[in-house]
Amino acid sequence: MPELAAYAVSDACSRGRAIAEPRPKARGEFQRDRDRIVHSTAFRRLEYKTQVFVNHEGDLFRTRLTHSIEVAQIARSVARTLQLNDDLAEAIALAHDLGHTPFGHAGQDALNECMQGQGGFEHNLQSLRIVDRLEERYGAFDGLNLMFETREGILKHCSSARARELGDLGRRFLEHRQPSLEAQICNLADEIAYNNHDVDDGLRSGVLTLEQLQGVSLFARHAAEVDAEFPCIAGRRRVHETIRRMIDAQVTDLLAESGRRIADAALASLDDVHRAPPLIGFAVAMDAENRELKSFLREHLYRHFEVLRMTAKARRVIHDLFSAFVADARLLPPQYQAMAAEGTIQRATADYIAGMTDRYSMKEHRRLFAVSEF
Ligand code: MG
Repeated sequence: MPELAAYAVSDACSRGRAIAEPRPKARGEFQRDRDRIVHSTAFRRLEYKTQVFVNHEGDLFRTRLTHSIEVAQIARSVARTLQLNDDLAEAIALAHDLGHTPFGHAGQDALNECMQGQGGFEHNLQSLRIVDRLEERYGAFDGLNLMFETREGILKHCSSARARELGDLGRRFLEHRQPSLEAQICNLADEIAYNNHDVDDGLRSGVLTLEQLQGVSLFARHAAEVDAEFPCIAGRRRVHETIRRMIDAQVTDLLAESGRRIADAALASLDDVHRAPPLIGFAVAMDAENRELKSFLREHLYRHFEVLRMTAKARRVIHDLFSAFVADARLLPPQYQAMAAEGTIQRATADYIAGMTDRYSMKEHRRLFAVSEF
């Protein structure tokens, strides 16, 4: 394993855990964080949560779980090549979507509407709430008691009002300081993963067509390369050869540009990272191509009528469930009734709904609203 750079997060320079624990015997602190995340209940739920396509629409589409694994793969490779802490990058990547509601962004928007006046709902904050409080696995503490830098990486963004409530962890938002390079890598790895796998899933579903994608330079450029090298391949194999080149081009660009920025910043410590501008990023040309791809996906995939139908239905399910539970807390499972008694009925309901998988939320909806089902 290559030695860590002086500005990488290490066990030695970490700000540690909120509750002190003995050092792990056969692994590093951030390996332990990753392991705790993998063993958590919230992590297993990701298997049945929507990325773009609802889970039951097909077995081969990405789910939050496979998305998180792809993000972790990219983040780990980039971190290792830049001599950064790949265990930390992996832990952040695997945890970054733990707080997602069922039905992807539609679910989050609906729950956020329900929670207006109650502090709103934001999936980043919910991921943090899960690892800090909601997981019930250890005798000595609530949550997973993760290292400070893992928690910092999970909290990608938050409002100033929220940042003030979060104390130490929120301070960087108020002081406009950057998180670790490992956290910055995860943000970019997330983008690379979803932009590329959404092209793949979009084509697989038939919502996107190859003709449309010819208008996207990153795709067209690499498809032409594939056609020149393998004139006889078509179909899924051609699509895959194209997408793997797109991912490779983005990762290669990210490594070169970030390496250059890191060298220019002459970093001597992790503290220098916090004070510097964002150092992980694409060069100008790739940034433009990436933005072109994103706006293409927004227009042709995320706003496609079939995706919007799913979105509309998801909103209805979340709104219905929320109203039913808030109107009568006795309908909640006992553990959430207890949470409502300690806090607010709205927050306990949001925690319950956010934890649901797509299919569980639909089942709950049937139980509460379908006259033919009890
Ligand atoms: Mg993600």
